[in-house]
Amino acid sequence: MADRTAPWRATILTLYPEMFPGPLGISLSGDALARGTWALEARQIREHGIGRHRSVDDTPAGGGAGMVLRCDVLAAAIDAAAADDPRPRLLMSPRGKPLSQTRVRALSAGPGAVIVCGRFEGVDERVIAGRGLEEVSIGDYVLSGGEIAALVLIDSCVRLLPGVMGKIASGEEESFESGRLEYPHYTRPREWEGRAIPDVLNSGNHGAIARWRETESERLTRERRPDLLGSGKD
Ligand code: SAM
Repeated sequence: MADRTAPWRATILTLYPEMFPGPLGISLSGDALARGTWALEARQIREHGIGRHRSVDDTPAGGGAGMVLRCDVLAAAIDAAAADDPRPRLLMSPRGKPLSQTRVRALSAGPGAVIVCGRFEGVDERVIAGRGLEEVSIGDYVLSGGEIAALVLIDSCVRLLPGVMGKIASGEEESFESGRLEYPHYTRPREWEGRAIPDVLNSGNHGAIARWRETESERLTRERRPDLLGSGKD
């Protein structure tokens, strides 16, 4: 468990530091950033580039399209940002382990993360082992760079930090927390375009409401994500 007197810290290594905090600077995450509940530092990889042009990439060994981020440049950027740093070092990568709510909870309970954002065709394989990078994917599709994936990861962690969601929710009933999708929500008006709120939700019977929510949660999971049921999914 991390020292909660210190803020949760995200250090991002990127060719586009101006993309941060971006959307994380508004709403709950932005308020928490301003309060010092978490901290963010976006560092320019190019500062460690080679030569007069601060070159960071080169052609792929063996030939082929595109460019590859150099291992020596990336290693220098990581060493400058996070040598002897206990935080996990993550590399956003479509080849990585898919990000899960379990991993998000574990990351948010720790001191923060050092996050490397790839670009081009990716990064030289040797720096992954050489600097102990954990590859993390946000889904089975390919983005242009790791920055948006890093924003997704940080948002999912920050909202779980103590005090960030305030009274809104503990997050414990949300989708994936118990290997189930969340039940449907309703609010006023009671009837809208011929569609009524299910009677049980207006009954005031908390036991019946809890049972209805559980049943709906099971139904939605069975219909949409049967892979989650009984899988002990993380
Ligand atoms: N050539 C790579 C491949 O086919 O696996 C794709 C490289 S992609 C154009 C450039 C960078 O975007 C990656 O190095 C990674 O940092 C980031 N990225 C793309 N898709 C991602 C995903 N689904 N999850 C996390 N990061 C992703």
